[in-house]
Amino acid sequence: MVLKQLENQSSFFDDRLDCDLVIVGGGIVGATLACALKDSGLKTLVIEAKPLEVAASRRQAYSLSLLSSQILTGIGVWQQIFPKIGKYCHIRLSDANYPGIVKFEREDIGTDFLGYVAEHNVVLTALQEAIATRSDVSWLCPAEVIGVEYKDSLAAIEVKVEGKKRLVKTKLVVGADGARSLIRSLAGIETRGWKYWQSCVAFTIKHEAPQNDTAFERFWPTGPMGVLPLPGNHCQIVWTAPHEQAKALQKLDEQEFLRKLEERTGGLLGKLQLVSDRYLFPVQLMQCDRYVKSRLALVGDAAHCCHPVGGQGLNLGIRDAAALAQIIQEACRQGEDIGDLKILKRYERWRKRENLTILGFTDFLDRIFSNNWLPVVTIRRFGLWMLEHLTPLKIFTLKLMTGLKGRTPKLAQF
Ligand SMILES: Cc1cc2nc3c(=O)[nH]c(=O)nc-3n(C[C@H](O)[C@H](O)[C@H](O)COP(=O)(O)OP(=O)(O)OC[C@H]3O[C@@H](n4cnc5c(N)ncnc54)[C@H](O)[C@@H]3O)c2cc1C
Repeated sequence: MVLKQLENQSSFFDDRLDCDLVIVGGGIVGATLACALKDSGLKTLVIEAKPLEVAASRRQAYSLSLLSSQILTGIGVWQQIFPKIGKYCHIRLSDANYPGIVKFEREDIGTDFLGYVAEHNVVLTALQEAIATRSDVSWLCPAEVIGVEYKDSLAAIEVKVEGKKRLVKTKLVVGADGARSLIRSLAGIETRGWKYWQSCVAFTIKHEAPQNDTAFERFWPTGPMGVLPLPGNHCQIVWTAPHEQAKALQKLDEQEFLRKLEERTGGLLGKLQLVSDRYLFPVQLMQCDRYVKSRLALVGDAAHCCHPVGGQGLNLGIRDAAALAQIIQEACRQGEDIGDLKILKRYERWRKRENLTILGFTDFLDRIFSNNWLPVVTIRRFGLWMLEHLTPLKIFTLKLMTGLKGRTPKLAQF
């Protein structure tokens, strides 16, 4: 279904623009950017390969940071999302069965919550509904981008829609098309990083014991396990293990799987029931050499991916979207060309270093905890002790993980 067609179709040989900005990928990051551009007056087109309801139906839940909640408030969708999601006031970090637990409390940073847990469809549907009210944003969907040509004054995007090829011309292309970004590879942008020796098994459980306000991250030598509270005594669990073990966990008989899970969660959640499939994800760390080129910017997983420990990936993407929207809006106000490399570099300078800090932090966590070598075990247990007892270190870590460190986009300042 093509939701809203562009009115004019220009030919490749003239310089008539179809729109000011094209966002390729209508996932949460792309849709956030479209919403965040609400006061720019720019004519925006979002191209999404899947039908909207299919894109929204992904069975995944994410930990959303305080900064992400502020950005989503700034674009006016948080009030729809808030009643339908999990909220946590406590975080518990632990090292396998070692008794020294690090306890983070909302009082440590004086906020109502330390974070939220939202299902993909709750967030994306709210964003899609917000876009539907906007006359300056159109969807081309389902439609797949298959090529892009960059010229001095415009970019020409080749799109396959309902089996036919068409051309869309714009001032700026934003690649929000996920980790395997075609937009990134067509632009010849190199990436750096590595695939981990681990995969994640992600699933939702219903549990008997009440636990609706604590997020757990427990580190095992095989990999971390995150337990995130969802409403109604449900939890989203991300269980990281070496590839073969993760594959075996996915296939394991349900009763045996739940028995192993109860063992891992220390019986804390009472009787468990599996209420979703078990999804297997490979884990990688990736950062692009460049986030921008003339007439191109990359956001979200198209620009960087990290280990799911600490639940940061989507939060970084939401922050990219808010930062890019701000840079574009400021350029519009100054009458500047939004596809000019000089303008786009401002976004890259802002986000690349901040993302690298979080990528490095998640990598450090995974490496230091997925290790049984005695000197490393001793150092990390001392580190955990410091984290629990040194208040400035605790507050610094909490602020880093909740997005409250670094430059705050204007959308999140109110
Ligand atoms: C197990 C696991 C747990 C995680 N938990 C968390 C968490 O708790 N918190 C957190 O912040 N992050 C988490 N993440 C990371 C998070 O899932 C990603 O960072 C996030 O989904 C990236 O969003 P995105 O919009 O950039 O990309 P995507 O969600 O991949 O969206 C890309 C969109 O682009 C579309 N598209 C692709 N190619 C084209 C094309 N050629 N033409 C048109 N459209 C196209 C796709 O259909 C899709 O809709 C987790 C990841 C994993 C694997």
